[in-house]
Amino acid sequence: MEEYDAIIVGASFAGLATASFTRGDKLLVLEKEARLGARQRSTCAAPVSWVKRLGAAGSIRGVMDTLVVHSPFGMEITVPLPERYCTLDYAAFCSLVAERLDAEIKTGAEVTGVVPGRRLKLSTPAGVYSAEVVVDASGWRAAVVSGLKEDYSAPPPARGVETEAEYDAKKVHIYLGSRIIPGGYAWVFPLENGRARVGLGSLKKVNLPELNRSFLEYLGIERYGSHHGGVIPCSGLREPVVGGIFAVGDAGGQVLPGTAEGIRKAFEYAELCGGLISRVINGELPLEEAQEIYRRGVLSSRKFYDTMLAIQKVAYRLPDRVVEDVLSRVARRHLINAIVNAYFAENRGVDLSGVLRYLELVSRL
Ligand SMILES: Cc1cc2nc3c(=O)[nH]c(=O)nc-3n(C[C@H](O)[C@H](O)[C@H](O)COP(=O)(O)OP(=O)(O)OC[C@H]3O[C@@H](n4cnc5c(N)ncnc54)[C@H](O)[C@@H]3O)c2cc1C
Repeated sequence: MEEYDAIIVGASFAGLATASFTRGDKLLVLEKEARLGARQRSTCAAPVSWVKRLGAAGSIRGVMDTLVVHSPFGMEITVPLPERYCTLDYAAFCSLVAERLDAEIKTGAEVTGVVPGRRLKLSTPAGVYSAEVVVDASGWRAAVVSGLKEDYSAPPPARGVETEAEYDAKKVHIYLGSRIIPGGYAWVFPLENGRARVGLGSLKKVNLPELNRSFLEYLGIERYGSHHGGVIPCSGLREPVVGGIFAVGDAGGQVLPGTAEGIRKAFEYAELCGGLISRVINGELPLEEAQEIYRRGVLSSRKFYDTMLAIQKVAYRLPDRVVEDVLSRVARRHLINAIVNAYFAENRGVDLSGVLRYLELVSRL
């Protein structure tokens, strides 16, 4: 059995970012896929500033600073994004972040068992590895924590799919309305060279690839690639530390309900987690204290996540005519900028409960 200071399970957004913020002599990252970035599930849109910080500017495939919301009956509302976003080449992102890590990375190393104890033991087909500090960054199934806590990763309510298409878009486009996608939204995110990622996600059990093909047709797109996608664990924050294991990213339910934005959140909590475990490894902080600080740090956003979850539940059930009415009021009063800014200012304790109260009110009319 090989011993490490810390083991991070999962080499995607959360795992690689946690590793890049962790300092230690013996750090191990375990990834079940045979190579890094082998399975892109997502549109991979994230803030440019974060991608640069992680040393992966070379993976950027498109940059955008404006959002256009399309209402169910064709109204368009344009909003500047508070910060520049980009679409990424997923495999290039994973390789570029991994190249700079001071860590051993084992691919084809699926964690299939966990034995609790002061030093946790993780079994993989390649061998058994042990560490005092373990981070579960294995996505919504939370492969490690779920081995200790039943129901931790109960199947999440939403799924999404997308494809890459020949479509010249310079802005992010979000489409609402049951004629395109019931119980969710559709999107277009620009790439370079007249291409874009086009997809949709829903809380309802619908045939997403078929609906996306209709959406592509609606946009007049004829040439597109295969579909990929997956589950979105947008049911709110899960317990951040279980059985001594830190859960980061989708494993910790940190994707934001309502928007399904998970990458920026994975980076933010990875920075918190990586900084804390570095201090544990170099003896500055007891593990239990680091876990408590991480737990409180994550759960300090619980009110924001709960509000987004409640907005998600109400907003995606509203009839199209009510959505149209709400959006036209919001557009007339220039409220959309305030709402978008409030969403991005979550870390400054901005409150979105007014939006929720308004949606609850209109949903009863
Ligand atoms: C269609 C779609 C589009 C999306 N678009 C966006 C977007 O544009 N922007 C955004 O912010 N969010 C988006 N999201 C959400 C976003 O993709 C996730 O929140 C994000 O991928 C979470 O990153 P993660 O590292 O926590 O988990 P994941 O990206 O799921 O990575 C988990 C990693 O762990 C590995 N793993 C799993 N089990 C094991 C195991 N037992 N042992 C070892 N390794 C294991 C996996 O192979 C994988 O590499 C989208 C989601 C979907 C489905």
